[in-house]
Amino acid sequence: MVDLPLPPGSTLGILGGGQLGRMLALAAARLGFDVAVLERDADSPAGQVSNHTIVGAYDDPKALAELAAVAKVVTFEFENVPARAVLTLQQLGVEVAPGAEALAVAQDRVAEKQFLNASGAPTVAFAAADSGEEAASVAAVMGCPLLMKTRREGYDGKGQRWVEHVGDAAATFEALGGVPVILEAPADFVRELSIIAARGRDGATAIYPLAENHHEGGILRRSLAPANVSKAIALEAEKIAARVLKGLNYVGVVGIELFELKDGRLLVNEIAPRVHNTGHWTQDGCSVDQFEQHIRAVAGWPLGPTIPHSRVEMLNLLGDEVDTWAKLAHEPDTRIHLYGKRQAKPGRKMGHVNKVRML
Ligand code: AMP
Repeated sequence: MVDLPLPPGSTLGILGGGQLGRMLALAAARLGFDVAVLERDADSPAGQVSNHTIVGAYDDPKALAELAAVAKVVTFEFENVPARAVLTLQQLGVEVAPGAEALAVAQDRVAEKQFLNASGAPTVAFAAADSGEEAASVAAVMGCPLLMKTRREGYDGKGQRWVEHVGDAAATFEALGGVPVILEAPADFVRELSIIAARGRDGATAIYPLAENHHEGGILRRSLAPANVSKAIALEAEKIAARVLKGLNYVGVVGIELFELKDGRLLVNEIAPRVHNTGHWTQDGCSVDQFEQHIRAVAGWPLGPTIPHSRVEMLNLLGDEVDTWAKLAHEPDTRIHLYGKRQAKPGRKMGHVNKVRML
């Protein structure tokens, strides 16, 4: 058993060395923790700002043992952490948060939607298919268009294609790699929203206001927060977030992506059991941001406030857009967050800015 709350001076472990790990590590450092990152790349965005990098795959038993030797509380920045990595850490006496249940649900789009519906959080109609033939019969029953997504490992719009005609379903199944898929009815949404929420070890919750999100080519471009929504929508989103947190016996920050329909109803698109790109606005819009909130939760500290002091427009800097840093640095209301990635590739998330206006 690990003694919680974890005192400053202890080491926190993070699986994954990307930008989310980096911003978690910075928040942890501000609270006085040392950070150990487990990551394949010796020079990672998170590793650059942490005390230790343990170089290895997430499921490398030797690397996990090394991590467990220094960190008694471990979290992750990436939902596709193998379940056996979590199990190995737990067997080594490490407290892993969020837990295996949240990971299992978030890693499989079918399990996720089943969980959501069972918890009273509505989603689009969906069905699973494990073969081209099955996909075709699902399409015949549900009708087209349908969005076919791989059940596992899709992100930023990857691993999904529209099926416009029943006759295309089998070929689309093959084009996605012949792996198990989910077929989703189209959400006729007017806006995409998201809500960032946290639950502490004591079951207390903290929920931020909604963000309005704009994607391009499946990648988040821009978030506006707090979103301009009716009281009813804000309350409904909070209710959904509370159900998700409780239903997963969750510890940490979760990102919940929502569709706002024409009639004002909300559907959940997906849940990310981690800090989330659409929550970056909290860094400059709230006194305790999603990263510190997550660290507080997993370390067993009390959660912080979520009331915004500023309205924020968050813009992702993709690829060589990061080269505009010098111009952005002249803008007094623009806060710059760069990730230390050495190479700008098209579409790669290199940083973001928060354009801030005090409320
Ligand atoms: P996802 O990978 O599930 O987050 O989906 C990426 C993007 O595809 C979402 O942000 C939406 O813009 C769109 N999308 C996902 N699911 C649906 C759906 N069932 N109907 C319409 N658009 C969707």
